[in-house]
Amino acid sequence: MISNISITGINQFKQSAVDSLHQAIVDVNGVELLPTVSLCHHCHSHVPAWRYHLDNKVYIVKHCATHGISHHMIESDYEFYSGIYYTQDNPRYNFNGGVLIEASDRCNLECPHCYHLPDNKIVDQPIETLLDQIKKLPLGINQVNRIILSGAEATLRPDFAELVTEIKSLDPDISVTVMTNGIQFGDHEFVKQVKASGLDGVNIGLNHPEYIDHHVVRRKQISAIENMHVENIPISYISYTMISLNEVHDIMTEICSNYWQAKNFRIRYGSDIGRNPGQERIFVSDVYKAIETWCRNNDKSFDRIIEADNNIYHIMARVENKDIRIIQWCDETDIDMEELRSGPWCDFVPDGVTNFLHQIIRRDVWKNQGLILPDTPPDRYKFNRNPHDTPLDLLNLSWSSNNHEPLV
Ligand code: SF4
Repeated sequence: MISNISITGINQFKQSAVDSLHQAIVDVNGVELLPTVSLCHHCHSHVPAWRYHLDNKVYIVKHCATHGISHHMIESDYEFYSGIYYTQDNPRYNFNGGVLIEASDRCNLECPHCYHLPDNKIVDQPIETLLDQIKKLPLGINQVNRIILSGAEATLRPDFAELVTEIKSLDPDISVTVMTNGIQFGDHEFVKQVKASGLDGVNIGLNHPEYIDHHVVRRKQISAIENMHVENIPISYISYTMISLNEVHDIMTEICSNYWQAKNFRIRYGSDIGRNPGQERIFVSDVYKAIETWCRNNDKSFDRIIEADNNIYHIMARVENKDIRIIQWCDETDIDMEELRSGPWCDFVPDGVTNFLHQIIRRDVWKNQGLILPDTPPDRYKFNRNPHDTPLDLLNLSWSSNNHEPLV
């Protein structure tokens, strides 16, 4: 397979590549928008790309020195795209201080949309190793001020509470939260234990709506939310992933009809990352319109939250009095790095902390597919608490061909 050939050390960001992008847009009668950076879906190099619109749809055209030109839709509604407003000025919807790290490769569920692909044979890294990883981050109130323990399922670690305490002891300004499926938190004694450890909050993934009828899993997850409320542990978000837009009904009914307190709810549709190869690509406007239509048909208020970090991968809305983050991830074919110059940041793969979505795509290439990472991300896309507004110059990017062989 051509994707298994290791191609490294190529400077992708040349004038000839940029000229090819302009010509490719002319060839399809597209209207140019902005330059960006993407990944080649064959060799996974960072490559120059350019956005354009055509027939009320938005595309990127990208150029790989080895694999040539390709065009990919990034939003199915240009009018909708044009109305997306992005700001980092609202601290409620600014996630630039948080970095996710993987605390376990193991999991007690097998969700149909999982991007991680857990491996229950992998031994958890010692606490010291994770502390060393965290100490390398620029910790501080105005830098990385939140560590989000993720996995697979971080709470499966027998020393989870100790890990939280140890991270907190590194810097009193650091908050520690966990991204979890909630199962362990269904045990009230576990909740008391982690509260005593200093855990500052949880992000609960209710995951696939099928679990709504999954008696054991669902019951534990609901107990988890109740236990959080009893113990006053903040819930940053409760999230759902759909494999069909028909599931909007069950999800929205649940969100609108219960007493759960969460900073926000998150709804996304599956992506071709991890366990979903070949997943149908839909766009954030599709998910947004499905939820908006449900609200209209069910007599619920629906308003877009304008002052938020809205982009082509997520948009904040308010339904009744609940904040909902409407999400649709890209995949390795159509990733648009100019949309990913913000948190939540991630430290899953080598060569720098970058946006979560960029990291889970590179992690899938490296860990799940067993392919090479042929270069480093351009510095422009690495952790920055306050990313600057300087326009992208494709010919002056700082990157290197430092490559990483597959893990498997
Ligand atoms: S999505 Fe999360 S909870 Fe589900 S299998 Fe993957 S790691 Fe486990």
